[in-house]
Amino acid sequence: MNSPIDKPGQHFEWWEFEVTSTGLPNALPAAARPHIRYLVFHLLDPLREALGRPVVITSGYRSPAVNRAVKGSPTSRHPLGKAADFWVPPTRRQPALTSFEVARRILDLGLPFDQLIAYAPKRGGHNHVGLHGPDVGPLRRDIRVAPDEGGMRKWTP
Ligand SMILES: [Zn+2]
Repeated sequence: MNSPIDKPGQHFEWWEFEVTSTGLPNALPAAARPHIRYLVFHLLDPLREALGRPVVITSGYRSPAVNRAVKGSPTSRHPLGKAADFWVPPTRRQPALTSFEVARRILDLGLPFDQLIAYAPKRGGHNHVGLHGPDVGPLRRDIRVAPDEGGMRKWTP
């Protein structure tokens, strides 16, 4: 499972889901790996394919200590491996995609998610996606916007 060629999907590596800005240890536990595979297979890889350009994970798995350090919700799905934050950075030919453009693509592609959040530029400009398997229950398809002025509101596209 930890062989160098083992990957969670076509376009992603395990280490990308261990990235943290906190400086704390954040090694993926075995229990989180199947959930990350699920998230990559059903959402992140298809999105990456459709966009045809890199999708950069800014926070995937979070150890409980990392989640506390970033003031994550106690019910956050990140410590389970069932959520990821990411953005679509500029390429040599194209500007970065805004989180709203990315959210729109996810919806237009009909990709599955439990929660989808678009953060405005002053809130980081990234997207949050949460996804779990059918064993956990139905997907809420909860869509939210984190606007520049703060707070969080439901988004009905
Ligand atoms: Zn998140």
